[in-house]
Amino acid sequence: MAQEDLLKKIIAHSKEYGFIFQSSEIYDGLSAVYDYGQYGAELKNNIKKYWWDSMVRLHENIVGIDSAIFMHPTVWKASGHVGAFNDPLIDNKDSKKRYRADVLIEEHLAKIEAKIDKEIEKAVEKFGASFDEPQFRATNQRVIANQEKIDVIKKRFVAALEADNLVEIKNIIEDCEIVCPISGSKNWTDVRQFNLMFETKLGSVTDEANIIYLRPETAQGIFVNYLNVQKSGRMKIPFGIAQIGKAFRNEIVARQFIFRMREFEQMEMQFFVRPGEELKWFELWKATRLKWHNGLGFDPKKYRFHNHDKLAHYANAAVDIEFEFPMGFKELEGIHSRTDFDLSQHQKFSGKKMQYFDPELNENYVPFVIETSIGLDRMFLSILSNAYDEETIKQEDGKTDQRIVLRIPPELAPVKLAILPLMKKDGLPEKATQILDELKYEVNCIYEEKDSIGKRYRRQDAIGTPYCITVDHETLENNTVTLRNRDTMEQERIPVEKVKQIVVEKTSMTNLLKKVN
Ligand code: ATP
Repeated sequence: MAQEDLLKKIIAHSKEYGFIFQSSEIYDGLSAVYDYGQYGAELKNNIKKYWWDSMVRLHENIVGIDSAIFMHPTVWKASGHVGAFNDPLIDNKDSKKRYRADVLIEEHLAKIEAKIDKEIEKAVEKFGASFDEPQFRATNQRVIANQEKIDVIKKRFVAALEADNLVEIKNIIEDCEIVCPISGSKNWTDVRQFNLMFETKLGSVTDEANIIYLRPETAQGIFVNYLNVQKSGRMKIPFGIAQIGKAFRNEIVARQFIFRMREFEQMEMQFFVRPGEELKWFELWKATRLKWHNGLGFDPKKYRFHNHDKLAHYANAAVDIEFEFPMGFKELEGIHSRTDFDLSQHQKFSGKKMQYFDPELNENYVPFVIETSIGLDRMFLSILSNAYDEETIKQEDGKTDQRIVLRIPPELAPVKLAILPLMKKDGLPEKATQILDELKYEVNCIYEEKDSIGKRYRRQDAIGTPYCITVDHETLENNTVTLRNRDTMEQERIPVEKVKQIVVEKTSMTNLLKKVN
């Protein structure tokens, strides 16, 4: 399936099966804002639990908090967001479409990189096992030429970003002959900076002094509480503070479903360490976070590290975990070594000491911070992209049929078990309801009696429900049910008493957590 088709299908499927709806849809929607439906909310909660438990429960030195969205406006001056949380924007004069200038250049670079990848793919096919990639890269003329192009553009681009040189960014766009994907023209406006923070007013008096912001990241709520948590929890360095919560960014371009939203959720963890030890912890968190992603059991080739070309002025190391979304490899999570920048800034702006007394070293210092920051909605999209499958099934009569199945890891699946009476009579619904009433305390169950059993199985496949049980006349006689497996579609007859054990065992979050510990 073409990757663009996959995104379209995921969007349609999410709506049809109650995962994600456009916000305020009856009023034609609100751009880049989405609502999670009945199954979306369950899946989201399960992702949060996987993240929270792996961070907070599995690490004795990490605790979780829940700070407010509104914060004192000086927080955002100290953090640098008021002055510099900008994206460079550019408009195409013909299509009147707005773009992020840096993204236009990055996409141009990705296209050249794709040409190199194609050459390598062809060579792998040609030379087979004897293929030597480094040697090929060093000697193939087309690869060399394209790599040189990338290096030249990247060097100019990084220098322009570092110097905040918007004229040069436009020059690069023009020199690379980047065209607007809508109009196909190179008729660009100048590049301007655009601050991404949403403003609102606190209280009833309209006054400049009352302007506050919707937080653009959850991290600052952790930084300003670091001493509260450290003292009240008697935390010793190294320790971490984790948080899940909403963040808001007035994104310039927001066209890729829940990949880039204006209201979204982040799962962030700040890990406080001794100065000088930060790079060791940075490497450790890189490995830990990749293991967390791989714990879900999807193709490991879909995840890769991408080092930042340009480090933020306060960072001394930064890497993204990229995932191969239907739109290509894109950032899913960021891991940053932020030095003591944030705490020192808050110390300066608030006048309050942010120092930690290290009893082992017998000295005071402002800790350094390693941050892991992942978008919950992007994580959700990565799971749907991995899980969505259109499967062709061979039937007994030789004909073929198609089913859509969401192969969501059972531990994260919104519904774990569907309980289906074969017919709406003969006491079968009563028996099925009785089973539901026993199991609903253990796992999220669903009861369905409408439509044929085949259609009901398909519907559960489309939601990603790992198990269905069918209650039939035999159930009334010997208390057994048919258990159907979503992935294999195999059915087995088992005693009702065994259902709980099987479903709990296969869908428990403990399975995932054991893999990542
Ligand atoms: P991008 O370069 O894609 O704009 P970023 O580098 O600004 O992302 P960070 O500030 O590092 O992102 O935020 C941490 C994480 O929050 C990202 O890795 C991403 O998963 C998520 N995130 C950031 N912006 C958005 C958004 N507009 N919609 C959904 N998730 C987002």
